[in-house]
Amino acid sequence: MLINLTDIFQSEQKIIEQEVLFTPDEVVSFGETVQIVRKEPSIMKLSNEGKGKIAVTGHMDLTLAMVCDRCLKPMEVPVSFDYEEHITEDGLTNPEDADEFFYMDGFKFDVDQYLGNEILINWPPKVLCKDDCKGICKVCGKDLNLGECGCDDFVPDPRMAVIKDIFNIANADKEV
Ligand SMILES: [Zn+2]
Ligand SMILES: [Zn+2]
Repeated sequence: MLINLTDIFQSEQKIIEQEVLFTPDEVVSFGETVQIVRKEPSIMKLSNEGKGKIAVTGHMDLTLAMVCDRCLKPMEVPVSFDYEEHITEDGLTNPEDADEFFYMDGFKFDVDQYLGNEILINWPPKVLCKDDCKGICKVCGKDLNLGECGCDDFVPDPRMAVIKDIFNIANADKEV
């Protein structure tokens, strides 16, 4: 969705409130495609602040289809944030101030491009099905929240092997 800002730039004090919908149904974060299960339309406020500046503010609510970081259980994760951006007419005409360029197409504001970036900025830092999720066994893949599997999970982790060696050397010293 593109919003032409020419009108707003031309009239000082002008304020427009517009309902916008983030068009894409998925977001790519660190090369991983994440589906959006729900998204609310956002009321975007565009105000001419004078001196060739437009303030863009609003609030966004959406729900992402993610998996628990530890046990990989599918989860719906709500994401909610306020956004604020200031677009300057100067930035549009001077390529050196490249900040505006990724979401502006001439004087047209690319809502999807802008909001897509805001979603990434407000990305959930950690996704856990519950605070004390035990994760899955590295050997057999069992969900450890459902009980222990009895695997010896020291073997596949080389860092643990090093610690074991140090432990053995310490013990050998003791025996001497
Ligand atoms: Zn989990
Ligand atoms: Zn196991």
